[in-house]
This record gives sequence, C-alpha cells and structure tokens, in this order.
Amino acid sequence: MNPASLPVRRIHAILLVCACLLLYPCVRAQTKPPIVLHAARVLEVGTGNILSPGEILVEGNRIKAVGKTVEHPQGAQLVDLGDVTLMPGLIDAHIHLFLHPGAEDLQTVVESTPWRTILAVEAAKADLMAGFTAERDMGTEGAGSADTAVRNAINAGLIPGPRLRVSGNAIDILGGHEDANRYNPAQHVLSNADYANTADEIVAVMRQQHKEGSDFAKIYQTGHDEIVDGALHTPFQYTEEQLAAAVAEARRLGVTVAVHAMGEPGALYAAQAGVASIEHATQLSDETMRLMKEKHIPAVPTFAIMDYFAAHRDSQDQAAREAELIDLKVAGFKKQIAAGIPFAVGSDVGPFPHGTQAVEMVLMAKYGMKPLAVLQADMIEGARLLGWEDRIGQLKPGFYADIVAVPGNPLNDISAVTRVSFVMKNGEIVRR
Ligand SMILES: [Zn+2]
Repeated sequence: MNPASLPVRRIHAILLVCACLLLYPCVRAQTKPPIVLHAARVLEVGTGNILSPGEILVEGNRIKAVGKTVEHPQGAQLVDLGDVTLMPGLIDAHIHLFLHPGAEDLQTVVESTPWRTILAVEAAKADLMAGFTAERDMGTEGAGSADTAVRNAINAGLIPGPRLRVSGNAIDILGGHEDANRYNPAQHVLSNADYANTADEIVAVMRQQHKEGSDFAKIYQTGHDEIVDGALHTPFQYTEEQLAAAVAEARRLGVTVAVHAMGEPGALYAAQAGVASIEHATQLSDETMRLMKEKHIPAVPTFAIMDYFAAHRDSQDQAAREAELIDLKVAGFKKQIAAGIPFAVGSDVGPFPHGTQAVEMVLMAKYGMKPLAVLQADMIEGARLLGWEDRIGQLKPGFYADIVAVPGNPLNDISAVTRVSFVMKNGEIVRR
C-alpha cells in the first residue's frame, strides 16, 4: 500500500458517506412512502375496544397513528382492505421450525442439519404467511444452533419469516424425555437435545448455547408420560435447586428459561425456581397455580398438537390414548382458568403442518377462554414472553408495524384467526 494515497482515499470515503447521508432520506422516501391501512374494524386488543371504521398510519417500519381516521400524509399509499378486522400480528410462543409431520423421532438420524435448515426456511415462510409475525422456537431437536442462522437471515431481510426468539437445542438429562432411548446401543443414536445432568452442567450447556447465539434456554423438565388408571405419570427431570441455577444463569445472561412440564412435581419445581413459562402444563397442583399467578408465569397449553395427534395416529389405541390425554388436559385447563393464572398461546407446530397453527386459539376458546382473553394471551402475553412487550403485540404509535387482517370480527368468531387475509411485518406488506 502506498502511504501517500491514504489521505486521498479517506477524503473519497468521507465524500461518499456524506453523499449517502444526503441521499438516504430521498431514497427512503422514494422506495417506502407512508402507508394508510383502512378497514371496517381495528381491534384494540388491550381493551377489546373495536374502532369502526379503523385506520392505521405506517411510516417506515413503525406504527405512527391508529384511529377511526388518521392523517393521510401527501404521497401516502392508501390500502383499503374492506370488511376485515385489523389487529396485531399473531404470536406463537411455542414452535419448532426444524420439525415437520411424520419425522419426529428419527428425524435426527435420517435427515442432515443442512436439509433440515432448508425445510426450516420454508416453515418460517409458511408461519409468516399465516399471520404469525413473531415466534419462539422451542428447540431444534437435534439441529443444534442452526435456528440462529434462520433467525439471522430473517433479520437481515434475506428470507421471509417471523421475528424469532430461538433456543438452539433443548436441554435434557441422559436417558431423559428427548434422548434416543432403547435403540441398539452399538449405533450410538444421538439425543435430540443437549445433555445436562447437574446444575453445573446445565450452566455450562447454557453458556455454550449462548455462545452459539441462543436467545433463551428450553429445558425438558418432565417425561416420559404415561396414563395409568386415568392418572398422568410424568417423572420430573431436574430438582428445584437445579432449575434455580438455570434461572440464575439466565438472569446473568439477560435471557429466560422455558420448561416443558406436563405435570407434577416437575411443574412445581419449575414454578418455585421462577422460570419464564411452563409449556404444555397438563396437570398443575393448586400450589403450582398459586405460584404461577403470584410470579406471573404463563402456562402455554399447546392443545393443537394433541388435537392433531388424536386425529392422525395410526392405531385406534394411540388415538384413544391421545383422546384420554386431551380429556385430562381440558379438565386441568378449566382449573387453571378458574385459578386466574396467565396464559400465552403456543401451538407446538412442526409435527403438524406449519402455517396451520392458529387453530390453537380456536381450541383455547373451545375449552373455556373468552375470545378476547385468547387474543390477549396471544398478543400481549406472547410479546411479554418474547421480551418484546414494548414493541409488538399491540397497535400503538411507536410499535413495529406487525399487522394482520382477518375476515369478520374475531371477538364474535375466534376462528377468523385461521383465515388471515393480509399480513404486514415490519412495515412491509408480505401478504395481500
Ligand atoms: Zn415443543
């Protein structure tokens, strides 16, 4: 390099930067005029109030104004969506981008991680097109931290998909819920999760996952599940002290811990340790529910996956077992509603087709929640669980413009959420 040429290069660089800064607002204004969305209704999900008609002004990637009418700036693009209800983008707090139907148990054996990553890209697109603009991926189940690549590619605008919180692999004990048990030992079939058998090992695994780009930790706390004489048997995997070590490490890292817990006493240990959410939550004791209410720990019921399995099992026996589990779950859910614990919406999509998971909200309403309470669980509680309650989940000035439209009024017919007709994410119209 010729040292004498450096100052000239620097001047050129400075001029280039100045030119870009001067041009940037014009380029931006040219490529992205403000958008005014007009519809028969806008849902204010926090209160359940419906504005009719309703308008939303979107500037850049943010909501600028919401009302019966809003300012129409010069040059704004008016999008009249007709007889629909505009509401915040849907949030799924329990998904698996790296799973697909028919491939649960031996997926890690027969499919490579590059192949699974390609399928995950398709899954992310399907979820977004169905109206899910933010999701929490609850474990790649054997694909390690490949979910960080999908999240980063979405954030960089390379591929379409929801805003993502990802965990990498889940954490599990040796021989535990997600391990590849009872295969030929000589084949050394890999676990679908990362092993941790002690508090120290949990912390070490969390640090490794953090290094690889995880946003939170998913821990398998109960399983394998069995129903014996009508009662759910689901052994716990970690003690309260071990989970408390995980929660303390998560706090240090500024992240959270979510646990898979079907029942007791595993769910109680998780609530005592102060986890962020209890996934599945089929049977909870009074004391667990009391702690969840007191500490604001939402249950994420995941009815959709059980409903799908009950309808799609090969044998009558398996289908009957799933139906029995749903009965237990519905009874537990009604107790949880009565106890006043918080809920978030998570479908466990992956083992059933991506893009179809809004049925979770229909099932939560069917089994006892009011439609508005379901939508608030989805959007407001979901945003809080993802750590984004100050930017998504409500149609408020300054929030990201993640907006969907559904036909009719979802407060009268919650199944409208399964028929999303318009999707905007981050100010971009991705489906119309
Ligand atoms: Zn799951």
